[in-house]
Amino acid sequence: MNAIAERLTQVRSQIPPQVRLIAVSKTFPAEAIRQAYHAGIRDFGESRIQEAAEKQQALADLTDICWHFIGRLQSNKAKKAIAQFDWIHTCDSLKLALRLDRLGGELGKVPKLCLQVKLRPDPNKQGWTPEQLAVDLATLDTCLHLDIQGLMTILPLGLNEREILATFQSVQALALELQQQSWQRVQMQELSMGMSNDYAIAIQAGATMVRLGRIIFGERELLI
Ligand SMILES: *Cc1c(COP(=O)(O)O)cnc(C)c1O
Repeated sequence: MNAIAERLTQVRSQIPPQVRLIAVSKTFPAEAIRQAYHAGIRDFGESRIQEAAEKQQALADLTDICWHFIGRLQSNKAKKAIAQFDWIHTCDSLKLALRLDRLGGELGKVPKLCLQVKLRPDPNKQGWTPEQLAVDLATLDTCLHLDIQGLMTILPLGLNEREILATFQSVQALALELQQQSWQRVQMQELSMGMSNDYAIAIQAGATMVRLGRIIFGERELLI
């Protein structure tokens, strides 16, 4: 077995079968994705449109990969994101959502989205506060070309385990609260949270999708 397949066997044993494992392949070459694919992975996360496009081209023979966009999405890249990705985890503002909705209409697509939320102040991260999301949800619910499936979060650095758990649990509580409001279109069954260093805690708090990079592919040389 190669190193990627070995690490995958190890990490899979820690993840319940109903939790979707997204292998975050940013900075790693197409060949690493191919190895993970042959070890059974079908969900891959990338955070840059251009970098992803090159790998997608090199892997065009693997037609059943589900591509997840997990990076900061600039509005001028929104169209490419819809064209190239099955999921966008990082829809972080009403303005971006409305743009994705309009472009989805133009492209005849209905991208699956997570709304990125921020439950702790973090100047380095985007996302809705619960208060702002409460204001914007009525508009989001009218977007016919968006398939909003749940929430996504990235934690600020430097939290201890108790704070990490509490923050993930607040995201879970927010999703449950929104679920009970029975919106027409907006769904809240997905929780995209947890990375290599905190995925076990995220699963404890109800994560349905974990985004794992280093624990599968090894340490990144480039920081992104
Ligand atoms: C890079 C990244 C990950 C994966 O992080 P690891 O520490 O390598 O597991 C997950 N989510 C997002 C949004 C990322 O940018």
